[in-house]
Amino acid sequence: MNRPALLSRARDRTEPWDLVVIGGGATGAGVAVDAASRGYAVLLLERGDFGGGTSSRSTKLVHGGVRYLRQGHIQLVLDALKERGRLRRNAPHLVRDLAFVLPCYRWWERAYYGAGLTAYDLLAGRRRFGRSKVVTPGEVRRRLPGVRTDGLRGGVVYHDGQFDDARLNVHLIRTAVDHGAAVLNYAPVVGLVHGPGGAVTGVTVRDLEGGSEWTAAARVVVNAAGPFCDDIRRLADPSASPLVAASQGSHVVLDRSFLPGDSALLVPETPDGRVLFAIPWHGHTLVGTTDVEVPAVPVEPRPTAHEIDFILETAGRYLAKQPQRSDVLSAFAGIRPLVRAGGSSTAALARDHTIRVDAPGLMTITGGKWTTYRRMAEDCVNRAATLAGLPKQECRTRDLPIHGFDPDAGRFGELAVYGSDAPAIRVLADVDKKLAENLHPALPYIAAEVIWSVRTELARTVADVLARRTRALFLNAAAAVEMAPRVAGLMARELGRDSAWTAAQVRAFTELAAGYRV
Ligand SMILES: Cc1cc2nc3c(=O)[nH]c(=O)nc-3n(C[C@H](O)[C@H](O)[C@H](O)COP(=O)(O)OP(=O)(O)OC[C@H]3O[C@@H](n4cnc5c(N)ncnc54)[C@H](O)[C@@H]3O)c2cc1C
Repeated sequence: MNRPALLSRARDRTEPWDLVVIGGGATGAGVAVDAASRGYAVLLLERGDFGGGTSSRSTKLVHGGVRYLRQGHIQLVLDALKERGRLRRNAPHLVRDLAFVLPCYRWWERAYYGAGLTAYDLLAGRRRFGRSKVVTPGEVRRRLPGVRTDGLRGGVVYHDGQFDDARLNVHLIRTAVDHGAAVLNYAPVVGLVHGPGGAVTGVTVRDLEGGSEWTAAARVVVNAAGPFCDDIRRLADPSASPLVAASQGSHVVLDRSFLPGDSALLVPETPDGRVLFAIPWHGHTLVGTTDVEVPAVPVEPRPTAHEIDFILETAGRYLAKQPQRSDVLSAFAGIRPLVRAGGSSTAALARDHTIRVDAPGLMTITGGKWTTYRRMAEDCVNRAATLAGLPKQECRTRDLPIHGFDPDAGRFGELAVYGSDAPAIRVLADVDKKLAENLHPALPYIAAEVIWSVRTELARTVADVLARRTRALFLNAAAAVEMAPRVAGLMARELGRDSAWTAAQVRAFTELAAGYRV
């Protein structure tokens, strides 16, 4: 993955691409993998970094969605459970089984949630992760040492999947490239090219690094711009009515002492009717989430003070140790693109995906969730192939290993998320001992990971490395800021940049990270 080479490939092609995909989040990356693995010629364009939008800001669960089960969306849950199983099979280095405990404080809850979660198991069928069970108060205390115990009547344990969203995003991009796709980050689509009769026949792209602009011809353009998909649709039709409503969800990250142990806590209904998760994640505790409709979609959404207080206060009702603002190591927000069903509130909007043909040659795919990205991509490429009259090819992603595939990646310790790439990172650290050095005492990352992400994962900025190739910014914003000068120096050497670039990168990252501190 060499950006200058990818840029030349993207710019120099004279023939139309079969598909040009706008957006390098879960949806766009999934479409690129699907189409490239069918043998179609694919160009994916991302205006920032891969996964820099919603796809690095999720709760990091591969799940059927127990709350959708309660709302009666059986088919939605069934489809997601199917995809959950496939994703664990195709990316075992990134998806792990996680036990969730629902602590019960009212007499009827154990039977009620126990029955619901048995139904969840039945829907998962042979793809079930672990079996649900009703447990005693003692078992709840054992699994969740950090839970509030006064009034505890027992609990229910069930299983779902956990993953690292930004890492899966990068591995999907790499899978697409492994199958022949061209991909480019820092390359926004700034216009659509129209042919006879108003058909969309390509896009105008800007290279943010070099400043050049060019057009890429396409048999079909797939708009996978997530919460920004309406901006692309309006390039084709300025009067297009909005397809998505934006809903902001926020999380805070605390240290592990708030939820020691390996199980997650799920509160299925907070006093104001929401769902609250506290999840062990990379040696920390991730707590969220909120769901608040927002009128506009910022590129860098921020949790509001109210959202942070709400999460801390609600978590405090269920945790033995009350989290305070001063305990928050990082706070982040993401925007969910929910498909509008006609002006209702965001909580009631469909969680399913939608595919729409906006103009001849332009399709939009949005909605859904990380867990179902593969199924969304399959549906989208089927439609795109028909729309563009491409030779029919069967979808291959149901059993397609994702880059880094390794069923026993746990043996790589802190490098497990890299899967089969981990030994190559170890070699970097073995050859140059300085690269074996830890970048910060509070986090497990080593300098070799920076080199790896620049050489093979298209990391171009300090934020790419600290927010998405590693998760330093999301785990501990203050530590990430302290790491920035070292990371910038390592990157400058790799990319041939000067001291002005290094200083500007550190400044920009410090400014960005300020938004993750509360
Ligand atoms: C708080 C929260 C928690 C969630 N938790 C979960 C969970 O636990 N499990 C789960 O399965 N799902 C979860 N989801 C849902 C999931 O994260 C999203 O469905 C998914 O990430 C959406 O991906 P996307 O690619 O459509 O959007 P995005 O990730 O936002 O990607 C769109 C991309 O398009 C790019 N773009 C925009 N305009 C242009 C342009 N002009 N040119 C080029 N590129 C452009 C953007 O930069 C962006 O990178 C959660 C969502 C939220 C908000």
